[in-house]
Amino acid sequence: MFEDSYKQRGLRQKLVRKLTEKGIKDERVLSAINRVPRHVFFENALLEHAYQDKAFPIGEGQTISQPYTVAFQTEKLEIKPGDKVLEIGTGSGYQACILLEMGAKVYTIEYNRKLYELTRSFLPQLGYKPYFFYGDGSKGLPAKAPFDKIIVTAGAPVVPAALTDQLAEGGILIIPVGNREKQVMLRIRKLNGELVKEEFDNFAFVPLLGEEGWRK
Ligand code: SAH
Repeated sequence: MFEDSYKQRGLRQKLVRKLTEKGIKDERVLSAINRVPRHVFFENALLEHAYQDKAFPIGEGQTISQPYTVAFQTEKLEIKPGDKVLEIGTGSGYQACILLEMGAKVYTIEYNRKLYELTRSFLPQLGYKPYFFYGDGSKGLPAKAPFDKIIVTAGAPVVPAALTDQLAEGGILIIPVGNREKQVMLRIRKLNGELVKEEFDNFAFVPLLGEEGWRK
């Protein structure tokens, strides 16, 4: 049903080389990207775009993140097999697939009902089975907390307190924070109950909506 041809595998390897050139080093991240068939997230007419290092519209005004962005955030999370990970912004589900390939247990939450329904039915057809939730992820997922790792895949105006509250000791939160157009990538670790913050490059995500996000 989902073809993964020689050509597509070749394009994927090329993408992995490109990500290496751009500075991604974690072999486990690169090998996850090498294994997840990104082209199945694209309509036939758009297949040629699947392995370019670009974000792409997936309908509902949302996007599948740029491979470099997915790789960057994932690398910064220092994923270990068995990690319990919360993803905010399921979108296409591509990022969730990468985390699952790395052996994480993935809880993913989406605020757009249609996208939630679509991805919840599509991903298992590829063999990827995160736990899907519908709702406002700017408040985290208190019922399933704490999490070893939290990844926010939409641009936030501030770091929601709910998210740092729901981090386990030793846990890592990666979140782009800024205005609607541009955000700086922040990594926050909880060490002995204290929050330790690091700042990385700028990125451009779609806005995080909801109570602790942009209220339209
Ligand atoms: N991780 C996705 C990319 C997501 S784009 C992927 O791999 O394809 C950002 C997503 O965040 C969009 O689908 C958007 O609907 C969702 N979103 C925005 N605000 C949200 C919120 N408060 N809670 C959960 N999801 C949210």
